[in-house]
Amino acid sequence: MRKKNQEDRESVDRRAGRRGFLRAAGGALALLVSPVGRAAATRIIAIRVWPSDDYTRITLEGADDLRFSHHIVRNPERLVVDLEGIEFESIVQHLPSSISDADPYIKLIRAGRNRPGVVRMVVELRKEISPQVFTLKPYAGYGHRLVLDLYPPEPADPLLALIEKRTPAEAAAGDAATPQRGGRRSSVSREPVRRPTRPSVARLITVALDPGHGGEDPGAVGRRGSFEKNVTLSIARRLKAKIDSEPGMRAVLTRDGDYFVPLYQRVRKARRVRADLFVSIHADAFIRPDAHGSSVFVLSERGASSAAARWLAKKENDADLVGGVNLANHDGHLARTLIDLSQTAAINDSMKVGAAVLAEIGGINALHKARVEQAGFAVLKAPDIPSILVETAFISNPDEERRLNDRAYQDEMADAILRGIRRHFDQYPLTSRSKLALAD
Ligand SMILES: [Zn+2]
Repeated sequence: MRKKNQEDRESVDRRAGRRGFLRAAGGALALLVSPVGRAAATRIIAIRVWPSDDYTRITLEGADDLRFSHHIVRNPERLVVDLEGIEFESIVQHLPSSISDADPYIKLIRAGRNRPGVVRMVVELRKEISPQVFTLKPYAGYGHRLVLDLYPPEPADPLLALIEKRTPAEAAAGDAATPQRGGRRSSVSREPVRRPTRPSVARLITVALDPGHGGEDPGAVGRRGSFEKNVTLSIARRLKAKIDSEPGMRAVLTRDGDYFVPLYQRVRKARRVRADLFVSIHADAFIRPDAHGSSVFVLSERGASSAAARWLAKKENDADLVGGVNLANHDGHLARTLIDLSQTAAINDSMKVGAAVLAEIGGINALHKARVEQAGFAVLKAPDIPSILVETAFISNPDEERRLNDRAYQDEMADAILRGIRRHFDQYPLTSRSKLALAD
């Protein structure tokens, strides 16, 4: 994880450095060519590939607007992108030298001069894809981006990830001795005390765990260069393993890798698996390095509970702008209309879970605010699932940044969140309450 951080940081540094250099070079070039009346070709600043099972994203970042057209060629499958007015060398320079064998969709990316003024980039594919190609305006340190999202023709179903998990009958039988894949028993001593307190329900408690940010969106960046997206994934994976080791509980991750997932997609994945609880995991940041402590947030139907909470919610909601959402995709609009439904019941439950989790976190770290706060976080807007957002600590605080990268602290944080969740469901056991029948 640390090595990865370093690489990420270096690529950001390289990008920043190169951009400064390019500006200078572009100016000189313009002086040379302007007498002839020819516009300088646009340079590619970076090409990034974000592979995942859900989809693979290729991002081309240009010094200027990128003009393009694209089409699919069959047998063998290829995505062909024709880029107009692009400097050929800048593409060649940034093409990934190798594609990971683990990439489910891409075999190879190559480029060549196609016809005057047009560079053709060819993505050789491992299988049939359904591409979404769109551009993003400069935002938060990024330049003009051309995004190629390669989706499978049939989207991956998060329910499938759960099939390998125990059936309700097995869970009710309390098969605690069966080791779970990747799971580690963490609370053996508590078992005999706890089990009688929760009647063996025939229904598993499903917890959707949402590691904040990912891919193009690093989230907050610490002073030592660690990325929020890596810390959140690491804590979420630990928590998932712990939850999966609990009898009667299972967890699903909204992302399990370094790639970007739009906020509405995170909510949709949780609803698809009929989650009983949604826990979004983040790390806070503030301009002042002495800001510290953990907090828990839930959605507010009205205004935010404090100016700071409103500011934070805006910052977290910006994830879609940084990470890059295809605005032509109507799914986002659909998700937004769902949230207009009454959420009072879910918010009341969210407050209860949030309080239980906050109390447990208070045992392992200072609290930034002693009470659960509220604001308009987009990722907490499932109309029918109690949802909380945990800011695990301040990544902008050097001491807390160190702790956030510390395995022991990540483990303690995961344990504390699990204790809070368990305490909540012990106090308010799941009934076979029918869920709102909402289309997704
Ligand atoms: Zn965040």
